[in-house]
Amino acid sequence: MGGAGKARVNDKAWVRIKRITSLVIRAKSVIHNIERRFLLRERVEYVRKFSEKFVRGKPRGSVVLIVVDCLRYRNLSFTGYSRRTTPFLDGFDIKLRAYSASPHTYSSVPSIITGLYPHNHGAVIKGVVKNLDNPRNLGLLRSEVVTLPELLRVLGLDTLFITAIYNAALPLRSSAVEYVALEKIEASKVLSEALKRVLRSARRGKSFFAYIHLGDLHQPINPPKQFINFFGEVKPLPGINMWNYREPDEQRGEGFEEYRYNRVLLYDNTLRYVDEALRNFVEKLREEVDEPLLLIVTSDHGEEFWEHADVEAEHFYDPRGFYGVGHGHNLFNEVIEVPLLVQELNCKSMLRSSAVASGALVSLVDIVPTVLDWLGLDFDPNIFDGYSLLKGVPRDRWALSEAVAYGYEKKAFIRGKYKLLYSERDGVSWVFDLERDPFERSPIEDDELVKQMVRELKKILARDMLRFKTRFGISGTGSREIH
Ligand SMILES: [Zn+2]
Repeated sequence: MGGAGKARVNDKAWVRIKRITSLVIRAKSVIHNIERRFLLRERVEYVRKFSEKFVRGKPRGSVVLIVVDCLRYRNLSFTGYSRRTTPFLDGFDIKLRAYSASPHTYSSVPSIITGLYPHNHGAVIKGVVKNLDNPRNLGLLRSEVVTLPELLRVLGLDTLFITAIYNAALPLRSSAVEYVALEKIEASKVLSEALKRVLRSARRGKSFFAYIHLGDLHQPINPPKQFINFFGEVKPLPGINMWNYREPDEQRGEGFEEYRYNRVLLYDNTLRYVDEALRNFVEKLREEVDEPLLLIVTSDHGEEFWEHADVEAEHFYDPRGFYGVGHGHNLFNEVIEVPLLVQELNCKSMLRSSAVASGALVSLVDIVPTVLDWLGLDFDPNIFDGYSLLKGVPRDRWALSEAVAYGYEKKAFIRGKYKLLYSERDGVSWVFDLERDPFERSPIEDDELVKQMVRELKKILARDMLRFKTRFGISGTGSREIH
C-alpha cells in the first residue's frame, strides 16, 4: 500500500516536472523564433549571398526528412533482424546503410543539414575530456556554414524544423532557422503536428521542406500502452526505460542478463510503434499532397547494448565511468551505423535509377547534396563533404565519424572494407576488416596499414583546417548567438 501511495506522489511530481520542462522548452523556442524574425535580417541576407554564389535555381517538389533518434541499423527487420520491427519501413524503395558523422545528436544533426563533417561545421563538444553534460562546452555551428532549411527558405520553400529532442535544435542558435521544440512526446503527436503545418503549405500550393525529429527510442523510453509488450512482455525492472548496469563491475550475472534482454525488448517494441506511426503519417501525406515529394527516413546515430562494454572499459576513458551503453561515447558500428531510407512519391523514381548500389559506402553528409540535386538545383559540389546519391558516390570515397560527447576525441575513418578507430589520447589505433569481422571483435595486425590510414586521416584534417577560410569566402555572416 505504502509503495503504491509513494508511486502516486512521485507520478504527480514527475508530471509537474514534465509540465514545467515542456513550458520552458516551448518558451525558449518562441523567444528564439521572435529573435530570428526581427533581429536576424542580416543572416538571411548572408544566406541569400551564399545561395547566389553556390546554390541556384528554383526548387521543384517538396522534401520531408525524418530523423528517428537512436535508431540502430541492425534492429530494422529488412537487415535480417530476428523481430519484425519495421514492416512499413521495409517497403521503402531505397534502403541504404549509412554512417552518421557523429555518435550523438548535438554534432550529428548539423552534419545531416549542412552536408559537412563536425570538424568543418563546428558544432562539437569542446575540451580535451569531452562531457556533453556541461552546457558551457558546446561549440557553435560556424557562422559561415549555411543549413539546408535556411537555404531552401531563401529559395522559396516553406520550411519546418520540428523536434521532440531539444539537443537537435540547440546547434541552430546561430542560424536563421525557426524551430518548433516540443517536449519528448510520442511520434504520432509530433508527426500530426508536422502534418498540420505542411498541409497548410500544400493547400496553398506551396512546396515545403520539413525536418522532423522523433525521440521515442531515446531514453527514457515510454511507448504507448498498445505497443509496450508488442513482441513479448517487458518486465518492469528498475530503470528499464533508462540505462542501468552502466559500470563494468555490474555487467555480469543473471540480473544483468535479464535486464539486457528486457531493455532490448522494450526498444524493439517501441521501434514497432514508431514504424506504425510513420505508416499513418505517410498514408495521410499520400492522400493530401499531389506534387513530387522526396521522403527520407534516417537516424542521427545508433545505440549500444553492451556489445563493446569490456573493450571500452579496458581501453577508453569516460569521465562518467559508464561503458557499453547508449551513444555519444564511442564509434563502434552499433553507435554510428544508421539506415538511410528513401521513398519518392508522385513522381518517377530518380534515385532508383541512380548509381548507388546497396553496398555503397554512404554517409549522412550525403543528404544535403542529394536533396538539392533531387530538387533540380544547380550547386557547387565542393562546398559539401558528401556526394549526391543521384549521381552516385566515387568508388574510392571515404567516410568519417567523429566529435564524441564523452571522453577523449575519437575518429572512425572508413575506406572500402577497412575501418580505422583512432583515439590518440586513449592510445588506440585499430583497423578492422569489416567484411571478415563485421562486429569489430579483433583489430587486424598490419602495422603498415594502420600507419597509412592514420596518415591519411591526419592529412584530410590538416587540409580542411587550411581550406576552411577559403571554402566559402563570403564576408559578413550576419550571425549572432542570442541565448
Ligand atoms: Zn540523438
